[in-house]
Amino acid sequence: MQKLIDIIGQETAIKVLKAGLPPEEPGHAYIFAGPKGTGKRSTAYAWAAALLCEAGEKDACGVCGACRKSLSGSSPDLIVIKPEVREKRVTEVIDIGRIRELISHLSFKPYEARLKIVIMEGADTMNLSAANAFLKTLEEPPGDTVIILIVENTGKLPMTIISRCQTVRFRPLPYEKIFEFVKMKLQISDNEASAIASLSRGRPGAAIAGALDREKDAREQVLSLFDNTESFGPEEYKLAQNTDKSKDRLQADRILASAQELVRDMVTVKISGKCDNLINMDIRSAIEKVAGRYSLRRLFRIYDVLQEMILARKLNVNPLLIISLLSLELKE
Ligand SMILES: [Zn+2]
Repeated sequence: MQKLIDIIGQETAIKVLKAGLPPEEPGHAYIFAGPKGTGKRSTAYAWAAALLCEAGEKDACGVCGACRKSLSGSSPDLIVIKPEVREKRVTEVIDIGRIRELISHLSFKPYEARLKIVIMEGADTMNLSAANAFLKTLEEPPGDTVIILIVENTGKLPMTIISRCQTVRFRPLPYEKIFEFVKMKLQISDNEASAIASLSRGRPGAAIAGALDREKDAREQVLSLFDNTESFGPEEYKLAQNTDKSKDRLQADRILASAQELVRDMVTVKISGKCDNLINMDIRSAIEKVAGRYSLRRLFRIYDVLQEMILARKLNVNPLLIISLLSLELKE
């Protein structure tokens, strides 16, 4: 669970929210608005935890019973609503059925805390009938309820809803803040942090997600390379080419790291005959299939070559050159 103190760069929003924490009282309805990845969701959960916390301070204590439940997502006084595909629909919405469930839920007293918190993610997917049904609750909310609506753009919400809520804006962060954040969070070099900070355009959430996406990209690239034995050249040569083609240093390093992990997994599958304890558990069936194409001996050799290539990159040596030198050595 994140606390309010862990939220970076949204000082204005945090100030507004802290004004609703003990000894002060929160308002009944808020809209958290701002671009994707700016921390609206994390902040909503952190604030909810602080509101429910037994310590009654300006932030969640993180250790009381209420905080532990907030952390594990099992607090009976925190109601989360997300858009979903309901009945015969195809797109994700929050429909009137869901709003009616919520209204009946809110008619009860809180179970444990002094408040009930509703976090509605993607509140702008409420269709018109849902929004109309919800309006009454927003007009006269039960006294012990705090409602948080999360949207990227308030433009998609009816004015009748907006006018009944206090809007808290989340803004993209300056480059320096994201740089420091990803460097600390992902434990990466200045160069890498700089690349991610630029690409994220002020959104810390997107910076983290983006980094993960690119890792996934690298893994897919490598897996298809191992899988496709028809294309020219031995695997390590193809990998060297891919790494060399990748103008982005960071991505090139990811390709090599990902290749080493995949080879390690293939070796595990071959030796143990099982798919337990793999690094890439989520794609174990694909790994099992590809492992069938290689002998253990070949996998060990590829692993060693990858090790050399990783070293070569550190020394700024062209990976293709390393492969050529290695194959020469093997011929002798
Ligand atoms: Zn607590």
